[in-house]
Amino acid sequence: MMGLMPGLMMNRPLLVQSLLDFAALRHADTEVVTRSVEGPIHRIDYLGLSRRTQQLAHALVDLGIKPGDRVATLAWNTWRHVELYYAVAGIGAVCHTINPRLSTEQLAFILNDADDRLLFFDIDQLNAVAAVKPLAPKLERVIAMTDRANAPRHERLSAIEIYDDLLAPQSSHYDWPEFDENTAASLCYTSGTTGNPKGVLYSHRALVLHAYACCLTSTMGLATEDRMLPVVPMFHVNAWGVPYAAPIAGTSLVMPGRKLDGDSLFELMDAEGVTCSQGVPTVWMSLLDTMRRQGRKPKALSRIVIGGAAASEMLISAYEDEFGIDVSHAWGMTEMTPLGVVNTLKPKFKALPRDRQLTQKLKQGRAVYGVDLRIVDGHGAPLPNDGKSPGHLQVRGPWIVKSYFKAERTALTPDGWFDTGDIATIDPDGYMHITDRAKDVIKSGGEWISSVDLENAAMGHPEIAHAAVIGMPDAKWQERPMLVCVGRNGARPDLAAINAFLATKVPKWWLPDRVEFVDVLPVGPTGKIQKTKLRERFLTPKS
Ligand code: AMP
Repeated sequence: MMGLMPGLMMNRPLLVQSLLDFAALRHADTEVVTRSVEGPIHRIDYLGLSRRTQQLAHALVDLGIKPGDRVATLAWNTWRHVELYYAVAGIGAVCHTINPRLSTEQLAFILNDADDRLLFFDIDQLNAVAAVKPLAPKLERVIAMTDRANAPRHERLSAIEIYDDLLAPQSSHYDWPEFDENTAASLCYTSGTTGNPKGVLYSHRALVLHAYACCLTSTMGLATEDRMLPVVPMFHVNAWGVPYAAPIAGTSLVMPGRKLDGDSLFELMDAEGVTCSQGVPTVWMSLLDTMRRQGRKPKALSRIVIGGAAASEMLISAYEDEFGIDVSHAWGMTEMTPLGVVNTLKPKFKALPRDRQLTQKLKQGRAVYGVDLRIVDGHGAPLPNDGKSPGHLQVRGPWIVKSYFKAERTALTPDGWFDTGDIATIDPDGYMHITDRAKDVIKSGGEWISSVDLENAAMGHPEIAHAAVIGMPDAKWQERPMLVCVGRNGARPDLAAINAFLATKVPKWWLPDRVEFVDVLPVGPTGKIQKTKLRERFLTPKS
């Protein structure tokens, strides 16, 4: 545009290193506690963490790591992993976090695709590292994230370096370079339910802006008095940004290491006075079992965020009504750093009867400032925000992917939006509700049935613990819903009994035509139910 007048403010780049620098200066004695992978509880404060991060930066430079190089981690949520986040990005390199639940083949693919030069790993990953090393020729060194006393050995890995030994001789002062805020800081691959996983390359600018957003009271509301336990892993979308956001707010971090079952989480949360936490529904189901057995909640826990998959009404109500823990539903994705929407209630909903309130809370939430949302029909035409019309959910904003790592083509629509692959409605108050993945939606007689809503309704049945809904081909209706369930305590209610219950919750024409019971639902490496496996098992004709 002609004639614009430039602003006269400093142009300081938004670099992630500044987040930890700030915490080291302004929240020097705030704790970062870890249940270490080696076993004992480990304590450090932000000042100590910053000093070790600077030592690590020197060590990385000594190992020949240059700006733009990729450094991989195969690790749980620990203080060393936080140090890696900051040291690698701080020297201008890229911290590539990898999911320890991947198979050797997937791991090799990702290491090779990213051209990782170093691999830092937690000691329980030793066998995975030994198996993948011969398949990743560009990997120069493997470094165990531990100290000499816990140094692992493996007959097929001749040279394992020890993290704490690398740091020991180094100075705890590093002059962080200043560079363009659009430089890449970290890399995470999508879960890859279809085809090979794709790399999402986060910039410093995106991570810093996203960290600010995580501190808003309408999102996670991180505060100085909080003790936050991110159950959501640091290998999956930067633990939803928590390691970058907590230093801004001076929030204490409580890192769970590798023990993520309900009993272990309860014990750590209780002992460490955790006030808030974030994770996927399966984690909260497991903690709920423990709380019910103990007859109480972890003493200071006051709020949780549920995201990554749809939260059910049963889950939200159990946390809020039985234990007095506030629940915020949230939605995002790897391609979005990941925060997209969070559900905090507008005052007018707080005055509603509880069942109406719960209906509103079940929605994934309102867009965070910085994320534009729209829903469109199959031809890309925008649909109304009436809370009824489901459409393809598209997003844009400063922390949303533009193109995938090494991809030649843009990941965007011609008019610059990213199609999430989700189907959603948006209501007049701006609350977005995911009704399906585009590939999972059930098309029955020209209408869409939401598999997510049907699953939620089924999980309200007292004898159903978990449920997944898939579309069965149907000559008359094109597709009809089929319910695959895990019974509670071995129960197996029949289709008629289930449908009698569901008929009070969903339209008649949504009622499933078939039900099958399984012992467990197949779950992928990031905790999502693998519907393709269910389709293969129940819907592929046997030859
Ligand atoms: P990922 O990139 O692995 O984090 O997966 C992102 C996808 O998970 C989204 O596109 C949604 O399909 C799903 N997802 C995330 N959060 C929710 C939620 N609260 N409810 C329903 N689906 C969700």
